[in-house]
Amino acid sequence: MLNIVLFGPPGAGKGTQADLLVKKYNLIHLSTGDILRSEIKEGTSLGLEAKKLMDDGLLVPDDVVIGMIKSKLDKNPKSQGFIFDGFPRTQKQAKELDNLLNHQSKSISIMLALVVDDKELIKRLLNRGISSGRSDDQDEKIIANRINEYNIKTTPLKDYYASQNKLHEISGTGSVLDIAKKLNNIIDNL
Ligand code: AMP
Repeated sequence: MLNIVLFGPPGAGKGTQADLLVKKYNLIHLSTGDILRSEIKEGTSLGLEAKKLMDDGLLVPDDVVIGMIKSKLDKNPKSQGFIFDGFPRTQKQAKELDNLLNHQSKSISIMLALVVDDKELIKRLLNRGISSGRSDDQDEKIIANRINEYNIKTTPLKDYYASQNKLHEISGTGSVLDIAKKLNNIIDNL
């Protein structure tokens, strides 16, 4: 079983790399951002509540995203593994994820952390805003909030996984395929 935390700031390329990893290792892709956006599209009360925070570039409450992940884990007991993209983002989420996996006699195998500097992130997000239409990718103030939330609440998770000898940092700049190769090498040497 291979359970990967794919980590990094907004715009680091997590979604792109997750798509490649999912195919290569036959994993289930769990992106809390994608799940939240589909809740918004469906107009659920959870989606409506989350939208206000997402529109400001702020994190939604831990219990909301933990509940979403729990239900996905429960629905896929026979999966060969999961790739967690954009989750966990806080210490509480990381601890709860460990608890949820423990209950199913599973654990996180590895954290792959993509590193990209802020200037490049802002450029990428603004470009994605044009192509995807995502409103939180189109406003520099919202982007700044998202990067700030990442720096304050999410970066400390590197220490959480480093203390379990699971952290691997990889530069997220360069070609998509070169970055993918580096990730594959790390996974294949586990
Ligand atoms: P993303 O698509 O991962 O960039 O997430 C878009 C937005 O969804 C974030 O700016 C947050 O508002 C919210 N979000 C996604 N994942 C989480 C999470 N694990 N914890 C809290 N908020 C989240």
